Amino acid sequence: MFMPELPEVENVKNGLKDLVLNRKIEAVTVLWDNIIKDPADGTFQSTISGQRIESIERRGKFLLFILDTHVLISHLRMEGKFRVEEASKPLTKHTHVIFRLDTGEELRYLDVRKFGRMSLVEKDNLLSHPSLSTLGPEPVAEALSVQWLSQFLNTRKRSVKSCLLDQKMVAGIGNIYADEILFASKIHPERAGESLSPAEIKALHGSIIDIMQKAVRAGGTTIRTYSNAHGKGGNYQQNLTVYGKTGKLCVNCQTPISKIKVAQRGTHYCPTCQI
Ligand SMILES: [Zn+2]
Repeated sequence: MFMPELPEVENVKNGLKDLVLNRKIEAVTVLWDNIIKDPADGTFQSTISGQRIESIERRGKFLLFILDTHVLISHLRMEGKFRVEEASKPLTKHTHVIFRLDTGEELRYLDVRKFGRMSLVEKDNLLSHPSLSTLGPEPVAEALSVQWLSQFLNTRKRSVKSCLLDQKMVAGIGNIYADEILFASKIHPERAGESLSPAEIKALHGSIIDIMQKAVRAGGTTIRTYSNAHGKGGNYQQNLTVYGKTGKLCVNCQTPISKIKVAQRGTHYCPTCQI
């Protein structure tokens, strides 16, 4: 199972900015209703039509299209993709939402699994929207403090892996980067959040910021089908140390990497380095 995490969504955002920034959306066609989470009153298409794409932002794993009066929140979930194509180009069968632009091109949302979701909210209500209101800080030094991590982890009996996947603690981390962060911090993924020492929380904090920043710079990790709107993937897969490396030798100690289930997710770690 692969879901785009913060670095991949950041890359998608940057690709889209090059292609559709300042374009006006003239019309919207929804071919698969379930992709639209809200508003549920059928005004999604009519509200967007005529609005300009003022900017494109990201919060956690959510893409935010800032329009004139509203914000389109898009979560790609497992297989969601945006493509910009000439309107004359035939649609593939996995195209579910089409935004016709004033250039004559179309911004097309494709999703093989149909798990992705879009919400349209008024600008003033963006931060109180349920998708964003409970998100924790972004994994950057300016937003994420050691104190916040300590406060969160000190009251959690569940595993540190599960806490890293919890978007309330830090926004944007998923299965790949959680495993990489725990390896870099030398912390066993099954350790209870509350069992971490102050030194371990400090190491975890440093690894979260370091790994997410490097992954953003690399354009994310390309596994299976992920790519941005230019069809370009990232290259962080070259830096992976434990994720997908079951049975390969640890880069630090040559112990074979193990795979177990933690928080219902396949979890990769070094049994010698991570205690
Ligand atoms: Zn090791």
